[in-house]
Amino acid sequence: MKIAIVGGGVSGLSIAYNLAVRSAGEIHLFEKNWIMYGSSTRSGARFRVHFWTEENSRFAIESIKRLEKLAGKMEWNPIIYRGGYLWLLFNEHQIERFKETNKMWSKLGVQGIFLEPEDIRERYPYINVDDVLGGFYGPQDGSLHHDYVCFGYYSLAKKLGVIFHEFTPVNEIIVSDNKVKQLKTMSGLVDVDVVVLAAGAWTNELLEKIGIHLPTEPLRKEVCLTEPYHYFIDPLIIDMGSGAYVGQTLKGEILGSIDYPTPPGLIKLETKLEFVIKWARAITKRIPILKNARVMRTWAGYYMMSADNSHIMGRGPEWPEGLYVAYGYSGHGFMMAPLVGELLAENILTGKIPELMKPFLPTRFRENKLIQEKLVIG
Ligand SMILES: Cc1cc2nc3c(=O)[nH]c(=O)nc-3n(C[C@H](O)[C@H](O)[C@H](O)COP(=O)(O)OP(=O)(O)OC[C@H]3O[C@@H](n4cnc5c(N)ncnc54)[C@H](O)[C@@H]3O)c2cc1C
Repeated sequence: MKIAIVGGGVSGLSIAYNLAVRSAGEIHLFEKNWIMYGSSTRSGARFRVHFWTEENSRFAIESIKRLEKLAGKMEWNPIIYRGGYLWLLFNEHQIERFKETNKMWSKLGVQGIFLEPEDIRERYPYINVDDVLGGFYGPQDGSLHHDYVCFGYYSLAKKLGVIFHEFTPVNEIIVSDNKVKQLKTMSGLVDVDVVVLAAGAWTNELLEKIGIHLPTEPLRKEVCLTEPYHYFIDPLIIDMGSGAYVGQTLKGEILGSIDYPTPPGLIKLETKLEFVIKWARAITKRIPILKNARVMRTWAGYYMMSADNSHIMGRGPEWPEGLYVAYGYSGHGFMMAPLVGELLAENILTGKIPELMKPFLPTRFRENKLIQEKLVIG
């Protein structure tokens, strides 16, 4: 069997590795730029198991377990660190929502801790809690090193015989008799039996050429990073009032972002001064000592938003035989990719749809079985 994966981000790399480890045949990965060009190395590098929906929470719990297991096999240390997530809550509605959802998280074994403003002050004296009504702390959540996870997948997959084609955009999928047959690349036509589209924000460009439309759209997101300082912010802090998040890398840089009005689409990957100002205002109000921090750099990447803010994996029954997708991660794809790779490999090779994958099939949109995930950060 000849399998082609389009996209060299964490999603494509995890799929390539998981197929190769199962001796799936001849596996080729096509990347239009260089491996890790896309959102995977532009992320905030955080993971969490706390989502509003049970489907996403379950998926993330299992995905992080896969990542931890794989860490021992990788040549690169993914630097998994559980500093926790701290949501700062500003009204009764938010507190109620977290309390209600914590019942589901408890059932899954990942319950969090509710904090009064004075508890927050005691644990994190640098946080201004004057207008805060409470907090929710998820100790199971944390950070990783996105570059090293990607390098780790890449080197494992390469050793297992995956053939990488960098600077090789796939321009079209050639279909005949409702089967994928070939890929049109700049170096010519390539015969294939299976195509997995893991091209992040660019996936629709290829899908739409063969008449498949899924409700997804790219949304540019920006990140700001300061000079490194002595480490003092352990959790990722999510301010549910301003929409800002802020954390610290283990190297000491203060990192974060804020929801900022941006038109959807593949707009230029640039950062705006207005974004930096909005984020800086929000985080210096929350952590006043940061007013002395100096911005070192900013960057932008795309969240590939799906209509229900949950990822899409697998295939539609009427699609050309051999075609699969893995995208639409809606801002939390890095942490989901380890399990996506495993389940999709299983699905491609056995034809069976694993239980955890079922809710995320592309058919859910027309069947109105949406996984409405509202706990999107950034
Ligand atoms: C600012 C920001 C912060 C984020 N923070 C987090 C976080 O803290 N935690 C988390 O889990 N997730 C986070 N995410 C989301 C996460 O980064 C993405 O969900 C994830 O990286 C998606 O991986 P991917 O492999 O699907 O896409 P990408 O990494 O974008 O990879 C797709 C690749 O496909 C290639 N490609 C596109 N078209 C073609 C073609 N025609 N032919 C060949 N190659 C092609 C591209 O060049 C690209 O390299 C964040 C995203 C952003 C932008």
